[in-house]
Amino acid sequence: MKRILITGAAGFLGSHLCDRFIAEGFQVIGMDNLITGNMANIEHLFNLKQFEFYHHDVSKFVHVPGNLDYILHFASPASPIDYLRIPIQTLKVGSLGTHNLLGLAKAKNARILVASTSEVYGDPLVHPQTEDYWGNVNPIGPRGVYDEAKRFQEAITMAYHTYHGLETRIIRIFNTYGPRMRVDDGRVLPAFFSQAIQDKELTIFGDGSQTRSFCYVDDLVEGIYRLLLSDYHMPVNIGNPDEITIKEFAEEVLKMVGKGRLSFHPLPENDPKRRRPNIELAKKILNWEPKVGRAEGVKLTYEYFKKVVPDTVKQ
Ligand code: UDP
Repeated sequence: MKRILITGAAGFLGSHLCDRFIAEGFQVIGMDNLITGNMANIEHLFNLKQFEFYHHDVSKFVHVPGNLDYILHFASPASPIDYLRIPIQTLKVGSLGTHNLLGLAKAKNARILVASTSEVYGDPLVHPQTEDYWGNVNPIGPRGVYDEAKRFQEAITMAYHTYHGLETRIIRIFNTYGPRMRVDDGRVLPAFFSQAIQDKELTIFGDGSQTRSFCYVDDLVEGIYRLLLSDYHMPVNIGNPDEITIKEFAEEVLKMVGKGRLSFHPLPENDPKRRRPNIELAKKILNWEPKVGRAEGVKLTYEYFKKVVPDTVKQ
């Protein structure tokens, strides 16, 4: 049985990855310091022999007994309000945490895949974003702590590949959504759904003309699985190229939930104006493309939010 360490296991993506690798017959070791993760996301795994859990901060030395075949490094705050609240931890997990896990991978002779992000492209001047674009990042802006940690993560991962011959994989993840997103993580999808369900104002930042392209979590997990098992070590974009403005997205949520109303608020500093992945590389190397359209994926996610957001209207 192959053994895989998944950091950030109690988070949104980490928990879905635990499920997938258990389903594929792996022995899964989950690790999380629970700063932004939630044990409820992995509670159902604790009665399985195939699952172990370590409550640990990977910014500190990481020890895992026994052999390891693979490491997935998904520990990090990932939403703008989180990395504004805990900027130093965000920098540390992307830099020191990645360094510790690369060292562990080297010691165990394991293959490591690190979670990078579309944020390495910053507020992009190239659209849609291809992997060979170097980005437009403000290092000292509010997003700098996340963006630069992830850029450092890519640099050190490539250095371990080049200088130590380590088996490394780098995925650049674009906006992803689905069940288990934290209701209060501040990102647009949980924000709009919780506001609409409670018949509150949907808080559009700016005039809502900025765009994002939303990928359903199952599609992302499939892309990660394929990339890990591939023999490609350069960064690969995984995301859904179906681009929409934030205002149009708010209107879709209003229509689906049948409650709430739009309100406009100042745009946060350095908020990227457009974002959409070019996924030609993933198509070619991994034979991957997203299968779940926004209408279907958003409906599945709405079902989840209906269960976890208190409906203040229905007393
Ligand atoms: N956004 C918004 N209202 C909210 C939360 C976010 O209009 O309540 C906007 C945000 O300014 C950005 C987009 O939605 O332009 C996506 O934001 P999110 O925090 O989900 O992720 P980002 O892609 O910016 O990292």
